[in-house]
Amino acid sequence: MGDKEFDVLVIGGGIAGIGVAAHLAQSCRVAVLEMEEQPGYHSTGRSAALFVKGFGSPVIRALTLASKPFFFSPDPQFCDGPLVSKRDVMIVGRAEKRQAFEQYTADEIPHGNLVPIDANAAMSLCPVLRAEGLIGALLDGGAADIDVHALQQGFIKQLRSRGGELFLKAKVEAMAFLHAAALWDVRTGQGVFRAPIIVNAAGAWADEIALRAGVRPIGIEPRRRTAALVDIPDGLVSKDWPMVVDADEQFYMKPDAGLLLISPANETPSEPEDAQADELEVAMAAERLEQITSIEVRRIRSKWAGLRSFVGDRSPVVGYDPQASGFFWLAALGGYGIQTAPALTELAARLVLKMPVQQALEAIGIRESDISPSRLSQTADQLAEDQKTQGEITNR
Ligand SMILES: Cc1cc2nc3c(=O)[nH]c(=O)nc-3n(C[C@H](O)[C@H](O)[C@H](O)COP(=O)(O)OP(=O)(O)OC[C@H]3O[C@@H](n4cnc5c(N)ncnc54)[C@H](O)[C@@H]3O)c2cc1C
Repeated sequence: MGDKEFDVLVIGGGIAGIGVAAHLAQSCRVAVLEMEEQPGYHSTGRSAALFVKGFGSPVIRALTLASKPFFFSPDPQFCDGPLVSKRDVMIVGRAEKRQAFEQYTADEIPHGNLVPIDANAAMSLCPVLRAEGLIGALLDGGAADIDVHALQQGFIKQLRSRGGELFLKAKVEAMAFLHAAALWDVRTGQGVFRAPIIVNAAGAWADEIALRAGVRPIGIEPRRRTAALVDIPDGLVSKDWPMVVDADEQFYMKPDAGLLLISPANETPSEPEDAQADELEVAMAAERLEQITSIEVRRIRSKWAGLRSFVGDRSPVVGYDPQASGFFWLAALGGYGIQTAPALTELAARLVLKMPVQQALEAIGIRESDISPSRLSQTADQLAEDQKTQGEITNR
């Protein structure tokens, strides 16, 4: 197999990698290297597929808002049908979690995404909620379910139509920067690839890729979230029910093709791996469902888990590594990588190509330093400095 040369190699065929590659393919030769047999096999294929403006850090919220036109008025060339369908989100307040609900209300009402409603209104939207203990709810009428498959296929179609390539079963095993040629040399199950620029979009494996490249890791923290689809008596679930979220974010449920998707909304630290559903976490979600609704769980139809990967400030890491030549990070999309993908991947592509981004950043309402990997090395350097100073003080 001969070496293949490109302008940019994107490692990871999740929504981040496919999305940025589709944008890059407009102006350069780009290839996506994905280790699995299909794109989106890991986090991207396991999400709850929601678009909610009022979730996540301020940076996530800004990127979500900036992605809204793409989802709600998609380009007909991108996909055949709609990318989203209406799904209200309702944060429920219950007497046993009154404090959490009051805190949520105080924090979120000023943002203007949520409207307070009383217990009766909450029950008319989701009649299975138990009346006893229900003290009210907050309603987001602007949220939606995302057709993740259509989004991913749209990006793949764009990528290919612009001359980009997607290599499956192309696990990156080793890589090195060839200084004389100013090229990254990347060894995979599909042969050797070379390019001056690498985009690290390997999700939970982003730090493993960095280590393979001899680049300082960013401290990515993969966290497992378990979900399940439960069978409930015929005719009980309405497809129009809102997604229901506990005020302390320990549980959520939403209708899914005649079944009910439930999750304990857990964030269990994990290695980067093919995450599997945890029985106890499924049982916790089923128990909470029975506590807050009149539904009796008859059968777990299916269960799965996926990894949501974060860094300390819970904002994505997007930009060139401050120390390694041609090594670009597109990682730590956390729990919002689908709903932010349109704006985030377009911005990432501009940064990869070193195009002016000031206008784009202003339009989104974030600063480059909010997402740049440099902010993490500053934090790490500051921490090291603090520890040194602390040591000196203690030793005095
Ligand atoms: C249960 C759950 C619910 C969620 N709900 C939502 C939601 O409602 N809304 C939302 O916006 N987001 C949600 N998310 C988050 C969202 O799924 C992620 O933020 C997003 O999918 C991350 O995309 P990614 O491309 O960074 O990672 P991934 O999809 O994991 O892609 C990374 C890819 O890199 C590949 N890779 C790794 N190592 C190598 C290697 N050595 N060589 C080649 N390829 C490699 C992997 O195989 C993988 O395909 C949820 C996540 C979970 C788990």
